[in-house]
Parts: sequence; C-alpha cells; structure tokens
Amino acid sequence: MTMQAVVLTGHGGNEVVEVQRLPKPTRAPGEVLVRVHAATLNQVDLYMRNSGAGITHRLPQIMGLDAAGVVEACDADEPRLRVGQRVLVYPGVTCGRCEFCLRGEGVLCTSMRLMGEHRDGTFAQWVSVPAQNVLPLPDGLSFAQGAALVVNHLTAWRMLANKARLRAGESVLIFGVGGGVSLAGLQLAKAMGAQVWVTSRHADKLARAQALGADHVIHSASQDVVKTVMADTGGRGVDVVFENVGEAVWGDALRALVRGGRLVTCGATSGDQPSADLRRVFIRQLQIFGSTLGDLTELHELLRVVEQHQIQPVIDAVYPLDQVHAAFERLAAAQQFGKLVLDLS
Ligand SMILES: [Zn+2]
Repeated sequence: MTMQAVVLTGHGGNEVVEVQRLPKPTRAPGEVLVRVHAATLNQVDLYMRNSGAGITHRLPQIMGLDAAGVVEACDADEPRLRVGQRVLVYPGVTCGRCEFCLRGEGVLCTSMRLMGEHRDGTFAQWVSVPAQNVLPLPDGLSFAQGAALVVNHLTAWRMLANKARLRAGESVLIFGVGGGVSLAGLQLAKAMGAQVWVTSRHADKLARAQALGADHVIHSASQDVVKTVMADTGGRGVDVVFENVGEAVWGDALRALVRGGRLVTCGATSGDQPSADLRRVFIRQLQIFGSTLGDLTELHELLRVVEQHQIQPVIDAVYPLDQVHAAFERLAAAQQFGKLVLDLS
C-alpha cells in the first residue's frame, strides 16, 4: 500500500519540495502507527528546504515535525493508547541512556533524532513512531490545533516555565508576534498570570494579539520598543524577554530588561551574530537562556495547562497536501498569524 508524503529532494526553493507516493510505513513492535490528519509548518521546515546546513540528514527525506491523527495500530499490550484514539506525535526520538536522558532532559540527548530533520517526518498520511512519542490529543482541540501544540507551544512552555521560570504577576516582552512560537508564548504567559507586551511591524497583527490577551502592543515600525516599554513600566523594564528574532532585536531585548531580568531565545531568523553588549549583561546581571523544543515530561505538563486554561492554538490557514508550495511561500514571506497547517486527512 502507498501513501502521499511531502518529500525534500534537495536544497533550494519549492522545486525541492515534492508530493510523492511512497510505501506506507510498517509498524515495528513497540511502535504506534498513526494515521496523520494534520501537520503544521515550522521555521525549521523552511530551513531544511533552504539549506539544512548543520543538520545531519539524508535525501530524499519526508518533511515535517509535528502531527495529530488517529491510532491505527499498536502493540496488543499497549497500556495507554487504543486503536481509534485521537493523538498527537512528539517529534524527538531519544536514546534513553545518555547522561542527559538519564537526568530527565531528553531534549538534550546526544543522539536525539527529530522527525523531519534527522529522520522521516510527519508530512505523510501515516507515521510509525515509538509508543512513548504518542500522547492523547486533548478534547476540544482539532487535529490542526493539536499538531500546532507539539512544536510551538512545547517550545514556548519550556522557555517560560523551565528556563525563564516565569511567575504570576511578572512582565514579559514578546518580539515579533504573529509566528507560531510567539503566539504560543503570548497564550501561555497569559495563562501563567503574567502581564504581556508584544511587538510587531504590522498593526493588524497587534490588533489580533490584543484580542488574544496581550496587555500592551508596540508597533515597532513606528514606535521605539525600549522607550515604550520603559514608559509603560515607569522606567523599570520587563522581567522576561521572549524572542526568536535574533540579531535585529537583540540590542532592544537587552535594553528592555529590568536589572537581573531574564532573556530567553529559541531562534535567530534575522541573524545569529548580534553585538553581545557584555557590560550591560554583567553590570545589570542579566540572565540569558537558550532553549529549543522541550522534552516529553514538559509536553505532558503542557497538555495539562492547555486543558486547564482551554488554550486554543491559532490557525492561520489550512492547505491540502498538493498546495504545500503555497504554504511554504506564506511562511517564507512571514505573512502568517498563527500556524500554517497541512490537511492530510
Ligand atoms: Zn540520550
């Protein structure tokens, strides 16, 4: 039996992203075969298409990191899951025995293999993955929303909860609202009881962020971000900066922080070599955290928070598989507000 999948055949533009017919995967013992209904595009998919430099991978390879769907087959003695259950798929396959796995930080595993990066991914009608990578999809979420949680909300959750250790009542500045991670950061920071500032060059994205709960919006095309934050906070600055823009905002990110404040970054879409401004870092005793994705324990935590606060990931647009190129174009142009979804149902 065959299935449709989005396959990366080289590096460049959309010409290396092909919808192909491939054999349906066979399930090995200990794995769960999932009929994928939705998967979403992430920045790393664009990076894999454009260059993939620094990520060990083979070509051709099925793209995609996150997915939600239905269990089609699992071991007869599988204790947590049953055939027909709605589930989501965690993209990281870890070794379970390196120093980092043993101390409970699987996301730092020295041989971590991520779907869509180091092994075949989720832009396919079926995936077969280790049973531990498959979690129940919270009730009330669509397949598209469920898929959206697994990379963006998980990344934002680790950044806020376990890196910045955000507390209720604190202030957070989120750069570049509109992308999946920054919107997830907004939703989770509000659920955690923080006061949230967001920036964007687009007034329409700020209006939509406000409707999602942003307390303060800064139109970075016409307003100075640092001056606005300082004016809003009585000259104090914010407790936490949350960013994945990198070089273009790094100086502002450091200057917007209160003394002893925390900056957490998970990306560098505008460049990764900003001025370090070390004197500011040590004199004001700033803390800088790098973060990427999250581990399975954090995903279980996140799903509890999502259910408790009824968080609904924001979907920008849903594309059928044969329009995957249009989805990549929208991501590359940074036009989206929320997630770009592939419908694989
Ligand atoms: Zn490991």
